[in-house]
Amino acid sequence: MTLKTRRKPAARTGQNPMPGGPKPAGKIAIRREICKGCKYCVLACPKGVIELDDKPDASGFLTALAVRMDACAGCALCARMCPESAIEVWAGR
Ligand code: SF4
Ligand code: SF4
Repeated sequence: MTLKTRRKPAARTGQNPMPGGPKPAGKIAIRREICKGCKYCVLACPKGVIELDDKPDASGFLTALAVRMDACAGCALCARMCPESAIEVWAGR
């Protein structure tokens, strides 16, 4: 599999919680038009927020969906893992 390495800031949390401190709630936006369905974000998310769609898009990719946004902790692990820089994260609501 070939992974693109488009460079841009992977995540913008706006906050940097103290280690071991409470994590702020967060939310994400997935640019599904550039998602390639690699599933890295699904595997990275500790809260089970993201799943792959069960229907392919026009290009044949099973793209990522945020299915449990209320559980998002704003940790930005998903955005850091995404090779397409398709995810943006906001800490806090
Ligand atoms: S920011 Fe963290 S908790 Fe929220 S969807 Fe991404 S990996 Fe999951
Ligand atoms: S890591 Fe990025 S490209 Fe891969 S499934 Fe998630 S949003 Fe799509």
